[in-house]
Amino acid sequence: MRLRKEAQRQENPEHPSLPDAAEHDMNTGYGVIILGTGPAGLTAAIYAARANLAPLVIDGNEPGGQLTLTTEVENFPGFPDAVMGPDLMDKMRAQAEKFGATFQSGQVTAVDLSQRPFQVTIDDGHTAYSAKSLIISTGASAKMLGVPGETDMVGHGISTCATCDGFFYREKPIITVGGGDSAMEEAIFLTRFASEVTIVHRRNQLRASKVMQDRARKNPKIRWVMNVTPIAVLSERGQVTGLEVEDNATHQKRSLPAEGIFVAIGHQPNTGFLNGQLDVDELGYVRTAGVTSQTNVPGVFACGDVMDRRYRQAVTAAGSGCKAAMDCEKFLEAFD
Ligand code: NAP
Repeated sequence: MRLRKEAQRQENPEHPSLPDAAEHDMNTGYGVIILGTGPAGLTAAIYAARANLAPLVIDGNEPGGQLTLTTEVENFPGFPDAVMGPDLMDKMRAQAEKFGATFQSGQVTAVDLSQRPFQVTIDDGHTAYSAKSLIISTGASAKMLGVPGETDMVGHGISTCATCDGFFYREKPIITVGGGDSAMEEAIFLTRFASEVTIVHRRNQLRASKVMQDRARKNPKIRWVMNVTPIAVLSERGQVTGLEVEDNATHQKRSLPAEGIFVAIGHQPNTGFLNGQLDVDELGYVRTAGVTSQTNVPGVFACGDVMDRRYRQAVTAAGSGCKAAMDCEKFLEAFD
């Protein structure tokens, strides 16, 4: 087991009372390792660092989480004129670093929760860490349609990120699949580039909030194809040409032309690395006890989208990150 010294931090002149050395020893490892750097993980890092726990924070495969894939965030408190998602995450990270959190890039590929200290392996065994406690904030990843033709076309017309890829579809017809807030948001954003955007949804009712529905309905570039099931991605010469759908009422099939298809049908929690060691619900979200962040393994806490199947907002994720750090602090007090 290789214990790293990266957690050693600079004495912060603004916070001279904080210790200037990593709070880990060779036997028990770190006090706490935080897995993931979305709003939940970074808020946990801010609180844990301010509590002098000197957390090690593992970036994950999408540093900053899903907000780095978005543009303006209008509903995060404190930003009446909106804030760009990536900027918000940069600020949270800077705040955590200021208080002494240390960041390590890499993706967690395995954990061993069978005994304390827990073991955390990143990047397929290249580096390993141990810790008395863990905060799991690995978030969720975009779900795909799972229809023929989709996988091959990812990056060639299939995307899950309008802000990343919308630019490539100037004056081209685009489809957005989904009926939730993400689909509305992506479709509205994509009208900046596309000749037209067709929202394809599997029911007649949208799931999106009223404000987002209204915005999408008012947009003259948005068309609607409702109550259809996507059945295949169509392509020619390595480029997407459309989406084949089946009408749920008549069962008739038809092809909707599009050069880009943006899939916005929700997310699934990133829990594969847990390898069944934590209780999860039927959708794979980590279960936590009551209003706390405590999982079924003492010393392992979960926060953010990896445990929240209901709210999944930046601000609720941040709030749950705060709870996880406070629960963790209490746990470590008893542990020491
Ligand atoms: P969501 O609310 O779960 O919506 C997913 C949509 O995709 C639903 O309309 C669902 O259809 C559809 N869908 C799911 N699986 C499908 C499949 N296999 N084939 C076709 N369609 C499928 O997910 P979301 O839109 O990503 O939103 C997640 C959370 O983030 C929500 O709480 C949302 O409020 C929040 N959010 C907020 C904002 C904002 O406030 N600006 C922006 C984005 C997201 P059904 O409706 O039939 O289930």
